[in-house]
Amino acid sequence: MKADVAVIGAGAIGAQTAVQLVEGGLDVVLIEPGTAGADHAASYGNAAWLSSHSVIPPATPGVWKQVPGWIADPLGPLAVRPLYLPRSAGWLWRYLASASTAAKVAAIARNLRALLIDAPRLHAEVAERAGLSHLINATSGLMHVWRDRDAFEGDAFGWKIRREVGVEWRELNGEEIAAMQPELSRDYRFGLFVPEAGHCRNPGAYVAGLVNHAERKGLRRIKARALGFTQSGGRLTGVRTSDGTVACGAAVIAAGARSRPLAALAGDKVPLESERGYHVTVEGDVPGPEIPVMVGDRKVIVTRLAQGVRCAGQVEIGGLEAAPDWRRAEILRRHLAEIVPSLDTTRAKVWMGHRPSTPDGMPVIGAASGIGGVIHAFGHGHVGLVGSARTGRLAAQLATGETPEIDVAPFSARRFSRRAA
Ligand SMILES: Cc1cc2nc3c(=O)[nH]c(=O)nc-3n(C[C@H](O)[C@H](O)[C@H](O)COP(=O)(O)OP(=O)(O)OC[C@H]3O[C@@H](n4cnc5c(N)ncnc54)[C@H](O)[C@@H]3O)c2cc1C
Repeated sequence: MKADVAVIGAGAIGAQTAVQLVEGGLDVVLIEPGTAGADHAASYGNAAWLSSHSVIPPATPGVWKQVPGWIADPLGPLAVRPLYLPRSAGWLWRYLASASTAAKVAAIARNLRALLIDAPRLHAEVAERAGLSHLINATSGLMHVWRDRDAFEGDAFGWKIRREVGVEWRELNGEEIAAMQPELSRDYRFGLFVPEAGHCRNPGAYVAGLVNHAERKGLRRIKARALGFTQSGGRLTGVRTSDGTVACGAAVIAAGARSRPLAALAGDKVPLESERGYHVTVEGDVPGPEIPVMVGDRKVIVTRLAQGVRCAGQVEIGGLEAAPDWRRAEILRRHLAEIVPSLDTTRAKVWMGHRPSTPDGMPVIGAASGIGGVIHAFGHGHVGLVGSARTGRLAAQLATGETPEIDVAPFSARRFSRRAA
C-alpha cells in the first residue's frame, strides 16, 4: 500500500491529524489495530473536558512529600503499584524534578497555554465540518468546587499561575453553586467558574465520527499494528505493520501510551509512562450537573454526557499490562453517589484507560531525531482530548513541511535527552 502520510493510532490525536491531512488534500492511511473510538483507547473514557485552562502539570513544587503515601496507599487518588516501582522510578524522579520550582511550573503552563488556548473553538470548528456539532459544547464553561474557601487555598498555587497565563474565572459562593448546579451536593460552598472552557458530549463517538469524516474525504484505514519504519539515507520510506508495509514519505506517531517503542525506533528515547485512570458512567437520562465539575477534595470530575453521567479520575502508576484494580472504580462510584445524591449509581459501568504521560505534563510534538519524515504527536497525559485539535493541525503542518502555527520547540522529544545529558 502507498500513501503520502501514514497516521499511526486512531485515538483523538490520530483522528484529528488524519482529518487535517485529508482536508488538505493528502492521500492518508490510518494504521490502527482496534476500532476508532472504542474503549481500548484513552480517548474513549476520559472526563470529556475541553479545558483550555488545564495548564498546570500534574506535579507541583513540594509534591515529593507525598511520595511515601503514593506507595503506602494503593487506593489513594495517586498510587504507585509497589511491584512496578523499579520500572517507573526513573519516570517518577523526572516527574518530581520537572516541577520542583514555581518557575518551572510557570514555564510549562505558558507552553500548554499556547497549545490549548483556543481549543474549544478549534473543536467546534472541526466538529462542524465533520457533522458532529451535537457532540461539542464549546461554551458550557467548566466549574471547580471545594468545601470552602480554605480548602481552595490549598490549590491556590496553580490558580495563581493560571491567572498569569491569562485564564479568567468567576468566584462562586454556596448559593450560586446551588443555583447553577441544583443536583450537586450542598457540601460544596466555594467554586470557580471558567467560562472560556467547554466539553465534549461523547468522546468515543467524537473520535469515531472524526475518522468517518476523514474516510468520506478519502482516508484509507488498515487494521494493523505499526511495528517500525523503513528508511533510505535517513529519510522515511515506509511504516512496517503487522499487515505489510505502507510506503510513505511521512508518518505521524499518535499511538498514545504505546508510542514509546516507535519513538525509540525513530531516534528518540522518550520517558513515556501510563498514568492509568478510571471512570464510572451511569447511563440514561439521569440526574447530574449541567456544567461539568471538578470536585477539589475528591480529585474527580463529574460530567454529564450524551449517554449519561460520568465520574472520572484516579492516577495509578502500574504499567500497560497489569489488570485494572476495580476497587478504584468503586471508589469513584461512591464519590459520584455523594456528589450527586439524587443519582442511583448501583448500575454504573466501569472503565480503565492509559493516559500517555510524560514526566513534565507536556506532549511530544515535533520531528523525530533519527528518521526524516517521522513526526511525534503523543504524550498528552491529562490533556489529550482538549489538546487534540491543535495537535492534529501541528502534526499535519509538520508532516507536510509547513511552518507550524505555534512554536513546537518546547514540545520537542529532545528536551528529555538534553536533560539527561
Ligand atoms: C480517566 C481519564 C480522564 C481524562 N480526562 C480528560 C479530559 O477531561 N480532557 C482531556 O483533554 N483529556 C483527558 N484525559 C486524557 C486523554 O484521554 C488522553 O490524553 C487522550 O485520549 C490521548 O489520546 P491519544 O490519541 O494520544 O491516545 P489513545 O486515545 O489511547 O489512542 C491511541 C491509539 O493508538 C493505537 N495504537 C497503539 N499502538 C499502536 C501501534 N503500534 N500501531 C497502530 N496503532 C496503535 C491504540 O489502539 C489507540 O487506538 C483523561 C484520561 C483518563 C484516563
